[in-house]
Amino acid sequence: MTGKTHLAAGITAALALVQPQTASLAAACVIGGGLGGLVPDVDARASEQGRDARVAWLLLAAIVAASLLVDGFSIQSLWAGALDQAGPVPVIAAVVFVGTCMVGSLTPHRSFMHSILAAVILTASLWHSLPSLAAPFAVGFASHVALDLLNSKGVRILFPLKAGFSLGLCHSGGTIDHAIFLVCAFSAISLLSRVAL
Ligand SMILES: [Zn+2]
Repeated sequence: MTGKTHLAAGITAALALVQPQTASLAAACVIGGGLGGLVPDVDARASEQGRDARVAWLLLAAIVAASLLVDGFSIQSLWAGALDQAGPVPVIAAVVFVGTCMVGSLTPHRSFMHSILAAVILTASLWHSLPSLAAPFAVGFASHVALDLLNSKGVRILFPLKAGFSLGLCHSGGTIDHAIFLVCAFSAISLLSRVAL
């Protein structure tokens, strides 16, 4: 799937499952879900990612900025949990998150960064650094892996086991990919419009 499809799917899945009732929670869903939807593909080589992935990350940056604006310039809701925790735990957890992504970017495509192991490490580190993003991130990450399973290239969900899984139903950039993007983008806007600002 293309980056924008993963981004839209991650946000939509987080909004649909977390069902945010406030603008702050909706912002956390958009940021955490979008991040979870994009992060697994840090393992794709630059040549494979191309322009599409860069556009998706830029889109996420714009969405994060817009979410924080909607949240009334109030980022306490995102940082509150971290600031409540005493000691070095939030900082260590943030370092673990970034470090895992950096190490993951060096691993083969659709292996460690598309596994349950990576999902657990990254979600746990977010839970201890930016707790409000943890659940939406986990949902976004799961949506990414679920969409990749539709492709023909195997996904090593059970890494370090070597087995790869795929349903072989579609390919990145194809009609199904575009259709999923449109459905998810429309659903995300629809779900966001129900949140009381
Ligand atoms: Zn992927």
